[in-house]
Amino acid sequence: MRRYSAFAIAREAFRQHKGWSEAWPNPEPRSQYDVIIVGAGGHGLATAYYLGKRFGITNVAVIEKGWLGGGNTGRNTTIIRSNYLQDPSAALYEKSRALFETLSQELNYNIMFSPRGVMMLAQTEHEKRGYLRTERANALQGVQTRFISPSEVRRLVPIINIDGPRYPVLGALWQERAGTARHDAVAWGFARACAAMGMHVIEQCAVTGVESADGVVTAVNTTKGRIGCKKLGIVVAGHSGALADMAGFRLPVESVALQALVSEPIKPCMDVVVMANTVHGYMSQSDKGEMVIGGGADQFNNYTQRGSWHHIEETVRALVETFPMISRLKMLRQWGGIVDMTGDRSPIISKTPLGNCFINCGWGTGGFKATPGSGWAMAELVARGEPGPLAEAFSMTRFREGRFIDESVAAGVAH
Ligand SMILES: Cc1cc2nc3c(=O)[nH]c(=O)nc-3n(C[C@H](O)[C@H](O)[C@H](O)COP(=O)(O)OP(=O)(O)OC[C@H]3O[C@@H](n4cnc5c(N)ncnc54)[C@H](O)[C@@H]3O)c2cc1C
Repeated sequence: MRRYSAFAIAREAFRQHKGWSEAWPNPEPRSQYDVIIVGAGGHGLATAYYLGKRFGITNVAVIEKGWLGGGNTGRNTTIIRSNYLQDPSAALYEKSRALFETLSQELNYNIMFSPRGVMMLAQTEHEKRGYLRTERANALQGVQTRFISPSEVRRLVPIINIDGPRYPVLGALWQERAGTARHDAVAWGFARACAAMGMHVIEQCAVTGVESADGVVTAVNTTKGRIGCKKLGIVVAGHSGALADMAGFRLPVESVALQALVSEPIKPCMDVVVMANTVHGYMSQSDKGEMVIGGGADQFNNYTQRGSWHHIEETVRALVETFPMISRLKMLRQWGGIVDMTGDRSPIISKTPLGNCFINCGWGTGGFKATPGSGWAMAELVARGEPGPLAEAFSMTRFREGRFIDESVAAGVAH
């Protein structure tokens, strides 16, 4: 596959751009692969990519029931940060944030990583104490964050109403090298790199069943027929429960809709990401000028990937307290994705009761930021059959054993 470069753009400009090859083909499946990954979201594609890059395993198919990146990967609000409280989470999310720093160069694909800084506002004394604790934990974990004063918040975000009618801003947990990236470009970049290694990314092909013999996975049934495999990775976010059911085990996750919306585009007014977890909302400004807005997850289980009126009303009402200027904005678009929530708000990267079948799920409202790190850790698990240091705390058995990784403050509302 030809590399993208300034030279290639110049060359193509002189021949009506007829020399570009497709970024990834959509091949017919073979009858057998060494590894099948179900789900061509960012995490599934990153898993395949690192299987090839780190372990030389390239006889791999990534099978996707819809279009590539059409799940939560293409629906999220793209916040990337690593200011979590517990050591295993900080290690995993910081690894991922660090991988994002050079991912465009590594994939030869511009994922538009923008380390513009993320702040989590403290709007109650309780929240302030929580973030001061996180700041100190982060210092021990090697994650660079600091608690900043209200005046520094105002300097960084002039449109904020520091005095808030109900909740004044008492400061914020600030991570300067956190930020955003172009979500679908992350999926496209990984897909192109996988195709370049000879892997198959097969779209419009739903997995409908999992076959096994003597307790070990042997094949998946799909809408394009039976496909054999020696190892299987299930990386399907909100549909993890359904896939686990096909593979014959139960998961401690529940699926709920998470919604977001964007306003009409306006002139640049905010160049950092702000999360206001007490009032339940967060906001950033996209490169196009739209204010990207999100809030909490729906309070009931469902598989409906669409928005609803109550969400617009609740989230915008909450944010107007802190950003009065958005009361004059028209909202342009709204959507939803199905996220898979665990009880401790931490993910699962784990072996399963079925031999050679591995699962990566439970990222809930905050897995986009983990995409490269999750793929890195999952590839190690699939290749070696045992979790590496980044994944070992995230086994699905931790719920039976009482070894929770409680991230309800870092990930309960915040994404
Ligand atoms: C509105 C919203 C806002 C969010 N904001 C943020 C944020 O700001 N920051 C952040 O870090 N995270 C955020 N998230 C969470 C983040 O989007 C997800 O955690 C992450 O994208 C999950 O990636 P994934 O690759 O595991 O899943 P997905 O991208 O959902 O990929 C799973 C794929 O599996 C496919 N699939 C399902 N069933 C089958 C089957 N039977 N056969 C074949 N394929 C199948 C699906 O079609 C899908 O493409 C947000 C999520 C939403 C919905």
